[in-house]
Amino acid sequence: MNDKKGSDCCVSQKDNLLSYDEALQRILAHCQSQEKSEPLGLLSAVDRVLAEAVLSTINVPPHNNSAMDGYAARCQDIQESGTELLLSQRICAGQTADMLAPGTAARIFTGAPVPENADAVIMQEKCEALESSVRINQIPEPGQNIRLAGEDIRVDQEILFKGQRLRAQEIGLAASVGCAQLNVFKKLKIALLFTGDELTEPGQPLEPGKIYDSNRFVLTSLLHQLGCEVVDSGLVADTLEETKNALNKAAAQADLIISCGGVSVGEEDHVRIAMEQYGKLDLWRIAIKPGKPLAFGEINSVPFFGLPGNPVSAFVTFLLFTIPYIKKMQGQEKIMAQPMTITADFNWSKAGVRMEFVRARLSNDNNQQARANIFPHQGSGVLTSTSWADGLIIIPIGKTIKKGDLVEYLSFKDFL
Ligand code: AMP
Ligand code: MG
Repeated sequence: MNDKKGSDCCVSQKDNLLSYDEALQRILAHCQSQEKSEPLGLLSAVDRVLAEAVLSTINVPPHNNSAMDGYAARCQDIQESGTELLLSQRICAGQTADMLAPGTAARIFTGAPVPENADAVIMQEKCEALESSVRINQIPEPGQNIRLAGEDIRVDQEILFKGQRLRAQEIGLAASVGCAQLNVFKKLKIALLFTGDELTEPGQPLEPGKIYDSNRFVLTSLLHQLGCEVVDSGLVADTLEETKNALNKAAAQADLIISCGGVSVGEEDHVRIAMEQYGKLDLWRIAIKPGKPLAFGEINSVPFFGLPGNPVSAFVTFLLFTIPYIKKMQGQEKIMAQPMTITADFNWSKAGVRMEFVRARLSNDNNQQARANIFPHQGSGVLTSTSWADGLIIIPIGKTIKKGDLVEYLSFKDFL
């Protein structure tokens, strides 16, 4: 981070927009992954980040078992279809099996241990049950319908990795090896503050000149989805004093501060002014649309993001910059959304001087290759575009697009 005051930084970069890649690189270079962890019961660990790898202490499955309801037998005893074998035992899931006597079969059910000596299970549809024997109407192959011990997981196998975000599947995997607790990184506390005298909370009457605060609801929801604890610093009036107090209080409570609005270069942009006076701030004019400008800095050693107030700009800059930062801070291994190449179903005739992140929606015509269309109103205040869309199309600087061209698409889901 630049130690100089932000206003110097603005002047020096005035005509020199920072590229998206460079801005991201600078922000991430500043990010320190947190190290504190805590043990949690499996169901409390969903969506958290694993602080320590998990090795299995058992084989899964622990024993050879039947994949079907049927009959366990020795292939060498069934040389032709129609062979009749005496039934020597009946094995259900959860029971143990005796060694299979040669020339006999065992009635067996899905998940039950396969008896020693047996090398195949014949599904019951291929057999005829007789009084005390069974007729096998198939010549079995060795190993058929037997799930082998350890075929999913072996003893000492690393099944979960440090830095992995735990989804339902990973929680299940831990349970499948008998692990009841996981060591996860502590939840990050993130302070959110929203500036603007025009802002009114939903549920209140809308006075002349006011608008409803929507950013708070977008960002709080996203932070919850990212597994963060939100310290809501509420609405902050457009005065230097209130802004300073709110920032100081947030710095005492949180691991990261995110503010929204008030970071441009105007005299009413108190967040910028407060940060320049009491913290460290870089105000970056990034060559992206929507999103310029973005502020990044720290106050009392707590990192700080100043997002633009326009709702689409706040949403997009949060996805592009703040989420990778938070994921890195959380200790996550995978922090970036992966673009997919898809076919444009739209024309883009005006080449831009900034990289554009256009609100887009995928469609799948008759199982053809995925195509993407874009919302007709791409203004930075048009929040409808973010609800209509399921992702962003990246339009590189200086590019026009014709229907049928290949473009890069980032799914909203992949950011989370
Ligand atoms: P600012 O960055 O403070 O200049 O705000 C830019 C635009 O975004 C203005 O039109 C604000 O009214 C609007 N805005 C700022 N904060 C919010 C918010 N929390 N919810 C909705 N719109 C906002
Ligand atoms: Mg404002």
